Amino acid sequence: MIAPDFEVAVIGAGPAGSTAALAMHNSGLRVALIDLATFPRDKTCGDAVAAYVPKVLATISPAFSAAFQALPKKQSVHTCRVVAPNGRSLDFKFHESGNVVKRIDLDNFLYELAIGQTHVIPLPGRRVNSIVYKPDQNFWELQTSQGRLTARLIIGCDGANSVVKKQLSDGRLHPQHHSAAVRAYFTGVEGVNPESFELHFIKELPLGYFWIFPESDGSFNVGLGALSKFISDKQVNLRDLLHHVVTNHITIAKRFANAHQVGDVKGFGLPLGSRKIPISGPGWMLCGDAGNLIDPLTGEGIGQAMASGRYAGWMAVDCFKHQNFSEVFMKRYDRQVYKKFWAAHRKSYLMQRYLVPRFGFFNKVVELAHWSPAFRKWLQRAVL
Ligand SMILES: Cc1cc2nc3c(=O)[nH]c(=O)nc-3n(C[C@H](O)[C@H](O)[C@H](O)COP(=O)(O)OP(=O)(O)OC[C@H]3O[C@@H](n4cnc5c(N)ncnc54)[C@H](O)[C@@H]3O)c2cc1C
Repeated sequence: MIAPDFEVAVIGAGPAGSTAALAMHNSGLRVALIDLATFPRDKTCGDAVAAYVPKVLATISPAFSAAFQALPKKQSVHTCRVVAPNGRSLDFKFHESGNVVKRIDLDNFLYELAIGQTHVIPLPGRRVNSIVYKPDQNFWELQTSQGRLTARLIIGCDGANSVVKKQLSDGRLHPQHHSAAVRAYFTGVEGVNPESFELHFIKELPLGYFWIFPESDGSFNVGLGALSKFISDKQVNLRDLLHHVVTNHITIAKRFANAHQVGDVKGFGLPLGSRKIPISGPGWMLCGDAGNLIDPLTGEGIGQAMASGRYAGWMAVDCFKHQNFSEVFMKRYDRQVYKKFWAAHRKSYLMQRYLVPRFGFFNKVVELAHWSPAFRKWLQRAVL
């Protein structure tokens, strides 16, 4: 039998792919890290990085976590301000601080860390077009924009429009379990606490929210997103809505009176983690957005991408150790990922569907939290 070019092909080198590659360090496996882009590359995002991200890296290697802590261009964030539809706000203090890091910097940091490991072979500027399993050879054949590659195992980390998901799992877009969002960078926004996230639940956006996140260079990541079903039912143009909010909203617009937009408004899809799909099968796994792992309420997916990438990397090492690539063996990966995220994603889904659009109820919940410290504490645990 012919040996494949690589033991593992990681398709997509965003947070999921780079972390999956990192998790296979010291394994002796030859890992191809393939991306259609060349790095540094940007990714449309709110740039908010969950507090547990350094821990994900620390469980792979304390040195990787230390490298993240030393990353210069990150803004530490200690609180989250939630603004109800009536304008009344609540500040939640995090137990552990999160960060805001521009994706061009975060993703390039993770990519450089991954390709700095001797087991990782970077293959940038290469689009994977199709994947076929060759049973006679016992490996996968990948057709790419720069020719053919073969690997024993594949890890699909190719984002929201994943080719791997479409070919091997369930790539259908369910508008009830999918969001869309847009963001732009601004300078000169007034009244911002530079160490706080701001989430505004506004009447114009009953199944989503508007955000202001502070960057380390003094600019702000400003955006909004909503469930795709709402966007298509109501024919909402998110770019127009963002412009409308920063120029006309009763409380928000005043704070943008002297602000300047830097660069274009950019948008992208968010496959939400409120619908389970198969994220593994014989000889393959899906991580991050390719595995539909975004929090349905907050839209966070970087932490999920990195945590699932880490599990996939570890699972790959186990597959080679036991020489077992069977569907049954690989389902351990699905169980691990869903054990970590499913309950939280269900709770977020229910809050997004039944709390956020009920403005009167939402306002009362915020009012009650002002009045009762015990309820406020409970709410913080439930939301953050
Ligand atoms: C507007 C917006 C705001 C968001 N805000 C936040 C936020 O504040 N915090 C947060 O945690 N999450 C946020 N998210 C979600 C977050 O961006 C994603 O969950 C995260 O990027 C997932 O990482 P990933 O590695 O799975 O995919 P990606 O980061 O999308 O990486 C996928 C990689 O695969 C490559 N690729 C794609 N197709 C192919 C192919 N065929 N062949 C080869 N390579 C391929 C791409 O070039 C890319 O580098 C937001 C999303 C949007 C759209």
